[in-house]
Amino acid sequence: MTILEYLSLQPFNTFGINACAHYFCKVQSKEEILHIIQEELHFYSKFLIIGGGSNILLCDDYDGLVIKNKITGIEVIREDEEFVWIKSYSGTVWHELVQYCVQHNYGGIENLSLIPGTVGAAPMQNIGAYGAEIKDTFEELEAIDLQTGTSRIFRKEECRFGYRESIFKREAKGKFFIYSVTFKLSKNPVINIQYGDIQRILQEKAISHPTIKNVSDAVIEIRQSKLPDPKELGNAGSFFKNPEVEKSVAENIQLEFPAMPKYELPNGKVKIPAAWLIEQAGWKGKQVGHTGNHAKQALVIVNYGNSTGDEIWQHALNVQKSVQDKFGVLLEPEVNVIK
Ligand SMILES: Cc1cc2nc3c(=O)[nH]c(=O)nc-3n(C[C@H](O)[C@H](O)[C@H](O)COP(=O)(O)OP(=O)(O)OC[C@H]3O[C@@H](n4cnc5c(N)ncnc54)[C@H](O)[C@@H]3O)c2cc1C
Repeated sequence: MTILEYLSLQPFNTFGINACAHYFCKVQSKEEILHIIQEELHFYSKFLIIGGGSNILLCDDYDGLVIKNKITGIEVIREDEEFVWIKSYSGTVWHELVQYCVQHNYGGIENLSLIPGTVGAAPMQNIGAYGAEIKDTFEELEAIDLQTGTSRIFRKEECRFGYRESIFKREAKGKFFIYSVTFKLSKNPVINIQYGDIQRILQEKAISHPTIKNVSDAVIEIRQSKLPDPKELGNAGSFFKNPEVEKSVAENIQLEFPAMPKYELPNGKVKIPAAWLIEQAGWKGKQVGHTGNHAKQALVIVNYGNSTGDEIWQHALNVQKSVQDKFGVLLEPEVNVIK
């Protein structure tokens, strides 16, 4: 394994930011990541693990070691009549795992088709879309302690999954390398088409008894029609999380904006779509310099070419401030901002 110096990270982040890593390496096996942890990490002032780079914003050059995860593979580790347990190594491309499961008719992650990135990053923010989250099928993960090199199993409860949340974004942040993730999938899939757009597409295609392949195809079609492809327009998906506010806060906003969409949560709070707040604040389709908010999806901040990470970050702060000024709601970034 070679440690490279002064490498452009442009191909390694979906925003397409041309930041430079002082040091860079790729790990392809457990031995290689253990070697890095035990023999190398202490030489560097800081380090950053990356998978697909689809949920990071590099604000500047990275004056440390960037570790690109290429540990791949998918294994069936157990099965019974009803379920199959699939272990996937963390550098596997997420959508390749979804495709593998769809092909074998193992149900549970088809609604998460085409989410960019790697399997190892998926538990970080409990990825979710179209009525599903990975916590629904998550069994356990193996993580390697970045100080000691020892392995630790995290069961579902220990991961403290929430909406775009887990322990790995909080107390355990920067402490572990996620090495593999195990999912429990159904051999008799229960189709989840509560999301209106999926139903619409299935109806258009006159599919009355959808398979998980039909659901996956519908999700892919929706995503391709709504979200900018990072290969054409740099972005990291939703930049902010949908805020969860007290009921009284939502009611006050609604007095002035009766059309505000909202979702009541079991914990008594109310979720407001961040895209709606951003659109009302006038950012949808607005370009400022080399950056801006996408015309079809205001929540997605895009790089129109040659934007620096700091430019995107300053833009995001302006969006955040104007939403706070207008509605009194603070938007929290979903993207991991690397300064
Ligand atoms: C077009 C687009 C659409 C998207 N849609 C969705 C969506 O619908 N739902 C959703 O939830 N997300 C979505 N995302 C966000 C993103 O795809 C996910 O967050 C994905 O899981 C990130 O994976 P990654 O491998 O690219 O992570 P990276 O961006 O490489 O890393 C993200 C974070 O995880 C850490 N990390 C990565 N791998 C490991 C590891 N093995 N061990 C420890 N830490 C690690 C990194 O240090 C970083 O902090 C979208 C992004 C894009 C560009």
